[in-house]
Amino acid sequence: MAVDIFAEALKRLDAAAEHSKAHAETVARLRQPRHMVEVSIPVRMDDGSLNIYTGYRCRFDDTRGPCKGGIRFHPNVSAAEVRALAFWMTFKCAVAGLPFGGGKGGVIVDPRKLSHAELERLSRGYIRAVGRSLGPDTDVPAPDVYTNATIMSWMMDEYSIMVGQRTPAVITGKPVALGGSVGRDDATARGAYYITKEIETIREWKPESTTVAVQGFGNAGQHYARLCAADGYKVVAISDSRGGVYDANGLDIPTQLDVKNSTGRIDVASGKEISNKDLLELDVTVLAPAALENVITADNASSISADVVMELANGPTTSDADQVLFKNDILVVPDILANAGGVTVSYFEWVQNRTGDYWKLEVVHERLKEIMGREFHAANRFRRKNEIPMRTAVYALALDRLAEAHEAGGTCEDYSRG
Ligand code: NAD
Repeated sequence: MAVDIFAEALKRLDAAAEHSKAHAETVARLRQPRHMVEVSIPVRMDDGSLNIYTGYRCRFDDTRGPCKGGIRFHPNVSAAEVRALAFWMTFKCAVAGLPFGGGKGGVIVDPRKLSHAELERLSRGYIRAVGRSLGPDTDVPAPDVYTNATIMSWMMDEYSIMVGQRTPAVITGKPVALGGSVGRDDATARGAYYITKEIETIREWKPESTTVAVQGFGNAGQHYARLCAADGYKVVAISDSRGGVYDANGLDIPTQLDVKNSTGRIDVASGKEISNKDLLELDVTVLAPAALENVITADNASSISADVVMELANGPTTSDADQVLFKNDILVVPDILANAGGVTVSYFEWVQNRTGDYWKLEVVHERLKEIMGREFHAANRFRRKNEIPMRTAVYALALDRLAEAHEAGGTCEDYSRG
């Protein structure tokens, strides 16, 4: 049965509300998006025909600042998915302490079937359709599934034409030459890597006996495997959509990266072939799901043997599975914290665009490390004190921050004092 991801998101909100100081009004407000639009985007195809695509943009909550969230081009995009992803972004920005609310957008399309010129016309058409509600102070998109830096540059250009002035801060994930931030390419994985290093210190791991399995060898998974391997960890398994490879002595990650980037596949001949299902159940120190949603479910949660699950992917674990992992004493670093490095460096990009002060790579890394470490320790302390799953702790802390902003404007109590 398909998992209703918005219903899953609301379950996390309800669990967090039990451990948060948030007023019931705030929780009720956060069950629904502020603003959601559906648009139609006419695109003239290369053969002269007209295709009309459906797109969405959701501004879930902007109490803490302008909405922030990517634009997805995928055949499975739906209003429900966009809304759930915008909800997650609201909590992700709050947990990272960024002055942003949460948003998300998408277009129902398989971009691999479009020519480059058709893709550009669709990207510009999407901005013309939703652009009136975008802006550096209202809603700031970024790349997501099947959108990239080039698409962000077209979108930034189209928005700039609409408002009559060059506006780089309207969108992040741009090419560095057009105002993108250095360090954005590996920011998601690097954020998770910095958290891994904090756990290493707490648990006194020795890198050479710390084993890592990574499901998904795309942007997030490749950089995470690379950073862990460079630090002396044994990355014993990686996979992509076609399957995986395992070597108990650790895979040669730089060679795997070369092979993947030149052939589009991982080198399964360099070790033992392993299925994606078996990879998830390996007895490793860190399991990093970095591909799809809902891969750890009630069906396989009791077979997960890792000490730590580092959720690079969005939504890899269902709420039923959460209970099992918690009972089995597995530390789950939840997606909204583990992969918040990406949106954090997007925030750095927005700051740099607005100030005109562009930072060196070392500055980006230093500030990212500081934020990831600080927020991980805050959540870890809260989890231990309340003896609750890390996910609940992270959501509760984010909800407290959202509540502080929502309730600064007053609640029903203010009206009942007579
Ligand atoms: P990507 O498209 O670059 O890579 C995805 C990888 O997953 C590919 O290697 C693909 O082969 C693999 N894959 C697809 N189906 C699979 C399957 N059934 N089993 C195993 N592997 C499979 O995507 P990405 O940018 O690395 O994103 C991966 C996840 O991380 C997504 O959930 C995304 O939302 C999340 N994420 C990414 C970023 C980012 O900055 N890239 C930020 C936040 C969250």
